[in-house]
Amino acid sequence: MAPRARGHGVSVRAPGPVGDWIVARSARWESLLREMVDVTSGRCDPRGLEAMRDVLRRELEALGGRPELVAGEARPDWIWPRLASDVEPLLVIRGPKRGGIRVLFCGHLDTVFDPGGPFVAMTDGSSCDAAGTDRVATGPGVIDMKGGLVSIVAILAALDAAGASAGGVDWTVALVPDEEIGSLMSARALAALAPQHDVGLVFEPCRDNGDLVLSRGGSGQCLVEATGRAVHAGREPEKGINAVDALARAIVMLGESQDFTRGIALTAGPVRGGETANIVPDSAAAWVGLRWRDAEGEESIRRAVAAVERGSPDALPWVRTRLALSRPAKPLTPQVEALGRELCELLALRGESAGIGHSGGVSDANILEGAGLPTLDGIGPRGGNMHRHDEFIRLDSLSRRAAAVGDLVAMIAARGGVAPHG
Ligand SMILES: [Zn+2]
Repeated sequence: MAPRARGHGVSVRAPGPVGDWIVARSARWESLLREMVDVTSGRCDPRGLEAMRDVLRRELEALGGRPELVAGEARPDWIWPRLASDVEPLLVIRGPKRGGIRVLFCGHLDTVFDPGGPFVAMTDGSSCDAAGTDRVATGPGVIDMKGGLVSIVAILAALDAAGASAGGVDWTVALVPDEEIGSLMSARALAALAPQHDVGLVFEPCRDNGDLVLSRGGSGQCLVEATGRAVHAGREPEKGINAVDALARAIVMLGESQDFTRGIALTAGPVRGGETANIVPDSAAAWVGLRWRDAEGEESIRRAVAAVERGSPDALPWVRTRLALSRPAKPLTPQVEALGRELCELLALRGESAGIGHSGGVSDANILEGAGLPTLDGIGPRGGNMHRHDEFIRLDSLSRRAAAVGDLVAMIAARGGVAPHG
């Protein structure tokens, strides 16, 4: 039987059996986490990504999942950073058809860490945090987001064990190879999955304080390229047209469009231009990271970028731009907030405190919500120091948080719809 909820603010009475099943097997989830963390899958390394896919295939095929590789898209060739590897596919695993609520579980296989670097394995988990209350382990991707991938396996295993008593859940798992570099290979395939589902669950870690991440800003990138005319810098500088100067003016203009109070940031760099000091440079380029909070901010950014364009191949200097606004802002919708509040109650029953949080950072939830799928995010385990060599997980939060999400999924399935009963 699934735990009951009666809408907003009224409560979920007791932890459910799906979550209990997960908590009772916490040692199993920790060892699966260690297996995944010890596979280095940073920087779109094809070998590491394939090893991660093998682990997920093994775990989810055992639950009746049918894996399929969906071709990724080539990233625009101007996007920074450039990659050595070819296009990587999205691994999509579909569970048995039960005619129930359709839930899209989403996670990314990549980390930010160099597979050849010094941070390649998980510690034994015998140390505690500063307060001495939680067991912690460090490792590359341990919280971002291999802990979340383990949560997905744990929840689906628990639903499988519960069988019909957990209600019908038609699950799909989407495993993204390139989230840490913008999900440009995966965005279209993810957006295509969104309308086939009733709710999306993205297992990025919760905020350091335990809050869910139910809204996020948007992000993108632009390339500003300037073309001038090269001449000898000493002999006839007056005939030259300096592309670096033109680019610098464009960068200053973009900087003036920043408005941190509205969440609008345009961050220039890397910047390239010129080869030597005695030639007026005829080409220069800057990559600019773009962040915004809402649709209005996205529009402001489009205008700011368009405003720096000038000239033409026949009227130098020529400044042109290319724009990829790959992840739209994810506003907090009433439906997602209501689901988030239910999850907070379920988390509290498991001893995990959580509230409704926002992040300026982006994730694949931006893409799913942008494609119309109500999506909860930041529902993975709790840890911190993401993207640093002391990235850590609070080990007990792994099964407790997965348990609460498992209870939520069972509850949604039992009532046959995402919306709480009023
Ligand atoms: Zn992540």
